[in-house]
Amino acid sequence: MNLFTFEDMKKINRNTLGNFVPLELFRSIRLIGMYQGLPMRGKNTTITVGRKIGESMNASSLEEVLGLFEQLKIGIPHIIEQNENEIHIAVEDCFCEGLPVHVGNMVCDLEGAILEGALANIYDGKIHVQEVKCNVNGDKNCEYKITFIK
Ligand SMILES: [Zn+2]
Repeated sequence: MNLFTFEDMKKINRNTLGNFVPLELFRSIRLIGMYQGLPMRGKNTTITVGRKIGESMNASSLEEVLGLFEQLKIGIPHIIEQNENEIHIAVEDCFCEGLPVHVGNMVCDLEGAILEGALANIYDGKIHVQEVKCNVNGDKNCEYKITFIK
């Protein structure tokens, strides 16, 4: 039994400050706290944390997962290529958009792991999500490659 579920996260009762926190707080947790503050740029942590969050969403289709990605304001995902082996997704308005460019750094791995966790429920765990492009790396968009494991 989980102490907290994704459904619990929607139970918000803040009279004055409401249900939003500023993007700079999310970015600070992600980039200053995790990417910069943890060993190996937080790689092990982001994979564990992201997958766990994704799984807790209990989504039942790829469309629903992409909808949640936008609803949670992580970014607006678009499928740019899809075949039987993989799905290629570009994210518009990613949370990292506007940050200074640091070539060689892709910072949206947690968000990819969220995708992976959510999709693992749908595809019986037989998928792998890889971050292939990122605004911070100087790319035009953040992009993920979802590979089906056969
Ligand atoms: Zn990004």
